[in-house]
Amino acid sequence: KITDQKLTKKEEGKSTSYLVFCIRKVSRQEYLKKREQKKLDELRDDIEDEQYLFEGVKLTEAEKREQRYKREIYELVKKRTEEADYTNEYRMPDAYDQDGVVNQEKRFAVALQRYRDPAAEEKMNPFAEQEAWEEHQIGKATLKFGSKDKKQKHDDYDFVFEDQIEFIKASVMGGVNVEQDAAVQSPEDSTAKTELENLQSVRKTLPIYAYRDGLLEAINKYQVLVIVGETGSGKTTQIPQYLHEAGFTARGKIGCTQPRRVAAMSVSARVSQEMGVKLGHEVGYSIRFEDCTSDKTVIKYMTDGMLLREFLGEPDLASYSVVMVDEAHERTLSTDILFGLVKDIARFRPDLKLLISSATLDAEKFSDYFDSAPIFKIPGRRFPVEINYTTAPEADYLDAAIMTIFQIHVKQPPGDGDILVFLTGQEEIETVEEILKHRTRGLGTKIAELIICPIYANLPTELQAKIFEPTPEGARKVVLATNIAETSLTIDGIKYVIDPGFSKMKSYNPRTGMESLLITPISKASAEQRAGRSGRTGPGKCFRLYTAYNYYNDLDDNTVPEIQRTNLANVVLTLKSLGINDLLNFDFMDPPPSESLLKALELLYALSALNKHGELTKLGRRMAEFPLDPMLSKMIVASDKYQCSDEIISVAAMLSIGNSIFYRPKDKQVHADNARMNFHMGNVGDHIALLKVYSSWKETNFSTQWCYENYIQVRSMKRARDIRDQLEGLLERVEIELTTNPNDLDPVKKAITAGFFPHSARLQNSGSYRTVKHPQTVHIHPSSGLAQLLPRWVIYHELVLTTKEYMRQVTELKPEWLVELAPHYYQLKD
Ligand code: ADP
Ligand code: MG
Repeated sequence: KITDQKLTKKEEGKSTSYLVFCIRKVSRQEYLKKREQKKLDELRDDIEDEQYLFEGVKLTEAEKREQRYKREIYELVKKRTEEADYTNEYRMPDAYDQDGVVNQEKRFAVALQRYRDPAAEEKMNPFAEQEAWEEHQIGKATLKFGSKDKKQKHDDYDFVFEDQIEFIKASVMGGVNVEQDAAVQSPEDSTAKTELENLQSVRKTLPIYAYRDGLLEAINKYQVLVIVGETGSGKTTQIPQYLHEAGFTARGKIGCTQPRRVAAMSVSARVSQEMGVKLGHEVGYSIRFEDCTSDKTVIKYMTDGMLLREFLGEPDLASYSVVMVDEAHERTLSTDILFGLVKDIARFRPDLKLLISSATLDAEKFSDYFDSAPIFKIPGRRFPVEINYTTAPEADYLDAAIMTIFQIHVKQPPGDGDILVFLTGQEEIETVEEILKHRTRGLGTKIAELIICPIYANLPTELQAKIFEPTPEGARKVVLATNIAETSLTIDGIKYVIDPGFSKMKSYNPRTGMESLLITPISKASAEQRAGRSGRTGPGKCFRLYTAYNYYNDLDDNTVPEIQRTNLANVVLTLKSLGINDLLNFDFMDPPPSESLLKALELLYALSALNKHGELTKLGRRMAEFPLDPMLSKMIVASDKYQCSDEIISVAAMLSIGNSIFYRPKDKQVHADNARMNFHMGNVGDHIALLKVYSSWKETNFSTQWCYENYIQVRSMKRARDIRDQLEGLLERVEIELTTNPNDLDPVKKAITAGFFPHSARLQNSGSYRTVKHPQTVHIHPSSGLAQLLPRWVIYHELVLTTKEYMRQVTELKPEWLVELAPHYYQLKD
């Protein structure tokens, strides 16, 4: 329809291009599927031919082995074709470009462009060129795959099925202070010492140890100190201990912030070991929904977001004698806001020491911001690192990473060093882990043992410690990590780094308020950090799975600070509740785009958290008590009115868990789906289905068996229960009674709507939806209970961008509720 088109063009430039993008994407998927099928058919023909040819012929061991391998590969490819989620039916990665088989060069260009300028997408048409290139690649692959040239028999059958990746050595990143420190580093005689004594002597081998006294002297002398030192030099684990040993904790706690919760947990565990105390006593950590500290705690590691929240209860941080804002170079949103707040309190608390520590040498910026604070440099110890680039772009960086792992593992003697691979997220890590396990199983004892250690934010705590365990003799460890291992965690013994060149990044479009996680090329600074991880204990090698051309021409120098690419609603609410009203003049190190600020103010006003003068309302103050996104907090506060706070905090807790509630094993998908649909009975919508899961579990007295039977992940449920308990505690703080309304679901849905009315969408003739406030075409996520039903009006919890723009967690809505609950936001039109 013309009007519709006009609206589309004018009102939502991005969306038009987005549709085009979706169409492209779908055809790509069909294309990929066909392509895999083609490969498979060829391979099968090949095997059949051979069987026919060799019938009755006595084969050599090697030939038999090759046949076996071929069959195995065939099964593998077949399985992959069957399992490949071309339609992205249910368990979808939450990034748009996950299929991975995209020309790297184009991929860089597209992703970069998208990241730098989300609106410019329509100008590009990466598809045609990409296809041509892919055809070329298939040609290459078929040659290898289908080749009947028996001369091609290799000795290393292990890799007969794949190209080898060619690298060129480009440069060597210089080593620093190697010789001098290598001497210091040699471990002391460790016999007849207790574990604690051993840990103590290890502490003395860290580069920072030599500067202990100088550092303490500088801290005594200056109120604010910027500390710069190579990752692994001991900043995070040692400085708080030095301060404690020097008596600073007699005057108050030492707080040390980390951008990532895994780092806070892992580092505090290490420090408690080094101090020989129980974690949670003298040394503890605090992350959202998990406080592992006590009255005794004097060294407290916490996420930067948690320290931000502590300002609400203690605006001058009176209980702290030292605040160390660690990993400052990461420039997360919370860290950036903390900068402004700690700088401010340092003025009227001269006794408070402020340390800003960073892994990059670019510390002048921090120093400038903190009124020319002195910079304390800890000279690093770094062995030379050889940098290798691929000679040509790789089609699929996961495949390339796996091949590179094997190339290193097989060609280098075991025991000469471990491998660290940087991937973008849990999904990728699990995929690679699975493939590695499968392939090594096939190889049996022909190769040395490969110990696979994943590490990502949601990895269960008990598995996190595994990456630090020393590698047994004769084996090799391969650590599959997200950006966490770039600077937050130091893993000893890494000699090889494999860097595909991507990470997951938040991107935000302030005009539509849309936030998504995109797989984005990393910056040069990140690439350098990653490479550096290999040269900590000896000369290292870094394999970049991209070309030198990509590196020099396509990568930005530095990562854009999060504050400039994220939704600010949460932070604005926190600042407002700290009494900081004039946000435009807040002392930002790099101010956010003013549209992002306005968008946040607008949302908070719509939620009635701010009045029309932009001042915090009573409702807003109550909302700020919850460590949740403002829409979730609003939903909880609104549940008071609808007498269903008991149900609503269960819903909120379940929503906070994300998508890891239902479990869908590959061999039991039908069972799992049936079990899941039970909770959707009566087409209640996803929010209520989550509520039903929680209350059913509660009825069984939190039974683990029940979770197994219903294909529900017990670990996620336990976390939901913890979160729910805390929310219950917070209800009391804002004087909301626990009320329940078991016989009527409308009040629950109304409370949800009271928080999420900005996320409403209306069904279109085409079967897609259009968001009401900032019109965009969206779809119900296939995992939703309402995916087949398509109600006329819905509200959704979040949008995720994969093959399409999907609404995740959807509930049907009565449109009159919008007008009733948000009259200032929606008006009736006839
Ligand atoms: P920095 O903060 O300067 O990057 P860290 O203080 O994090 O350095 O690390 C210093 C040393 O402590 C490293 O050798 C690292 O391997 C070790 N380390 C840190 N955390 C742990 C842990 N959880 N388990 C074992 N070793 C650890
Ligand atoms: Mg550190």
